[in-house]
Amino acid sequence: MKILLVEDESSIANFIREGLEEEGFSVDLAENGRQGLQMAMDGLEDYDLLLLDWMLPGMSGIEICRLVRKESTQIPIIFLTAKDTVDEVIFGLEAGANDYIRKPFAFGEILARIRVLLRTRDGDEQVFRAGAIELDIDKHQVFKNGEEVELTQKEFALLEYLLRNKGRVSRRTRIIETVWDIHHDYDTSVIDVYINFLRKKLDDPDQPSFIQTIRGVGYRVNDHT
Ligand code: CA
Repeated sequence: MKILLVEDESSIANFIREGLEEEGFSVDLAENGRQGLQMAMDGLEDYDLLLLDWMLPGMSGIEICRLVRKESTQIPIIFLTAKDTVDEVIFGLEAGANDYIRKPFAFGEILARIRVLLRTRDGDEQVFRAGAIELDIDKHQVFKNGEEVELTQKEFALLEYLLRNKGRVSRRTRIIETVWDIHHDYDTSVIDVYINFLRKKLDDPDQPSFIQTIRGVGYRVNDHT
């Protein structure tokens, strides 16, 4: 899951980014309004959610929200605001935001609101399955034949990506961009390391791996492999 955070106060930005990354999200940060708009427009296909500060140098979060909404009615948008009069909140929601968070906030509140919006967007599909394997986004748990399997954050994120693309090839370049957030240096060998970790934890011995290697291209998970 990839989030664009537009926030000019670096202490707040780092606090949010570090928290979200610990939760397994990948976060891009823009530090002013124009950069934020540019990144949002360029990355509309890639971002799962936008987190916009209201007061920004260059262009306000509300302006960004209004312009992004013209291009995408789908992408969830939350704005952060120190403003808390009812009128201003209504103004933000009318600009197309799905939700707002008042500063100062607790990190847990941001996380909860993000999860609610991502759940609404995906409908009820918060549990992904392939054969005996089940991944529950909300609980952040993975099960095999009903038994919980402990995964690291990166393993979880990689498995989630593969399961979201079940039946399709997950290309190496897309995996490295989405799960590792690496966009320029395309040494993708780390993917193989983590695929092996997942196989060790989740495959049945003596059976073909549930993750199919598509040589030179990527990986694919099917329902029955
Ligand atoms: Ca600000």
